[in-house]
Amino acid sequence: MNREITCTVCGETTLARPEPIYDGFKKTGEAFVCTACGARYASAEATPFTAGPQKPSLFTEADRPIFASIFDDTERQRSCCWCKHLVINPFEQRCGLSNRQTEATDLCEQFEKK
Ligand SMILES: [Zn+2]
Repeated sequence: MNREITCTVCGETTLARPEPIYDGFKKTGEAFVCTACGARYASAEATPFTAGPQKPSLFTEADRPIFASIFDDTERQRSCCWCKHLVINPFEQRCGLSNRQTEATDLCEQFEKK
């Protein structure tokens, strides 16, 4: 993918750094950041690529299974099975903080590594 841009902020012809946009844990798109001045473009369409819009590659990103973007290593570390608040008894597993039943794969705002 050609990431060369002519930045409308600093005027440099340089490379754009892709930056994933998340809505919760779902990747909803990609922003691009000028590597020369740090200007941020909210979408591929808004980024002044020298080669024009990068729609085909954006589709490729969006078509990737959600699984891959949610369960990368750092996210998986936040799941309840790694959390010190998880209480397991013979009948259920629940969160000791919210007292709600939980799944080992749940991701939690109050996560604390055990
Ligand atoms: Zn720039």
